[in-house]
Amino acid sequence: MDTLVQGGGLPPTGLYPPQNGLFKEVLSSLEAAKKHLDLPSAIYERLSIPRRSLIVSLPVKMDDDAVKFFWGYRVQYDFARGPAKGGIRYHPKVSLDEITALAALMTWKCAVVDIPFGGAKGGVTCDPTVMSRDEKKRLTRRFTYELALLIGPESDIPAPDVYTDEQTMAWMMDTYSMIKGYTIPGVVTGKPVCIGGSLGRGKATSEGLVITILEALGHLKIPVNGLKVSVIGFGKVGYHAAEILFGMGVKVVGVADSKGAIIAVNGIDIASLVKHKAAKGTVTGFAGAQDATLDEMLSVPVDVLIPAALEGQINVGNVKKINARIVAEGANNPVTPDADRVLAEKGVFMLPGILANAGGVVVSYFEWVQDLQRYFWNETEINERLKTIMKKSFKEVLRVSLEKKIDMRTAAMVVGVKRVAEAVMARGLYP
Ligand code: GLU
Repeated sequence: MDTLVQGGGLPPTGLYPPQNGLFKEVLSSLEAAKKHLDLPSAIYERLSIPRRSLIVSLPVKMDDDAVKFFWGYRVQYDFARGPAKGGIRYHPKVSLDEITALAALMTWKCAVVDIPFGGAKGGVTCDPTVMSRDEKKRLTRRFTYELALLIGPESDIPAPDVYTDEQTMAWMMDTYSMIKGYTIPGVVTGKPVCIGGSLGRGKATSEGLVITILEALGHLKIPVNGLKVSVIGFGKVGYHAAEILFGMGVKVVGVADSKGAIIAVNGIDIASLVKHKAAKGTVTGFAGAQDATLDEMLSVPVDVLIPAALEGQINVGNVKKINARIVAEGANNPVTPDADRVLAEKGVFMLPGILANAGGVVVSYFEWVQDLQRYFWNETEINERLKTIMKKSFKEVLRVSLEKKIDMRTAAMVVGVKRVAEAVMARGLYP
């Protein structure tokens, strides 16, 4: 008889759909957009609640032979415009509230960049940093087995997110294919290239982020020459963004991760910092910079601040420290609504996540199309198409912002929500 151990966080409790926390924050930006859209109230109500949510308990055999239980979630927020799409995250803070909020953001994000997907998100409450590769593999396979009810290339397509990667997607694709009895690459995106992944997917979120930053700089007439940036978070998105900008000659003067921050007013050598982080597990203690707190790093004047880690990194506690002209959200919802108001009052130009970090899901879309067609594109084609979509989306959001005299976040919501609402209305009520 296996030993059963309770683990991976508390069982889900409280009201459904979640009415507090992050989802409430996300609904407040829907409320802000509503004022600028002529939406029938039934449609607004429809868009304020998730379409479908799955909660699963996952027994997983750990390396010490004990069986531990984890909670997993998949929320399909809306799929009026096409199959539901969105990442899977493994993190101790994963909850139904967080996943619902992120699924709503994916819905607006896919609509802002006008790709034919609805929005979804999934996750497991766990601490992947203390789990072995085999434990993560068993967790992923069990989770995929439970998700097989919902996911599929025509219905719902997961992708990587916080603490999940190409390997996680390979296990998901394999598990789903084993269940069905044949190979189905289109069930997930962000896979290794050898099993139907797309070239350019790994860096896509950061490439898209840099494209929108360049567009914003052009609009604000800030020259790239002499540009200074800071990055919060040195995971996939933050690291690649810093690397691309560094490669363009931009000075990265501050980098923060979950353990601390570093500052170097003359710029940080990103290639050396990557080696340092790989060896030490943190950016702190780097020889080419001085250690600092996040608040100290935020106080260093920059042209662009890139929050690229978790939600709520910029809040009322630290927003006053920020000394930036542009905030480009590499993460999903890194700025709380209160802090967002402060930044708007200060005249900071906001590149909201549903626009700025959409490059990842755009290349996921390319990956899915390539998988369905069994015909693969080269990296130049992928980058060109990504650039076209990101530039067009930026211009559209900026146009709405200037025309309606609203901030960029509300403008992005207006663009995204309008497209989702149009699809819902065109399809009508069933039955
Ligand atoms: N996790 C990424 C996001 O939040 C990518 C999602 C996807 O490619 O489906 O946008």
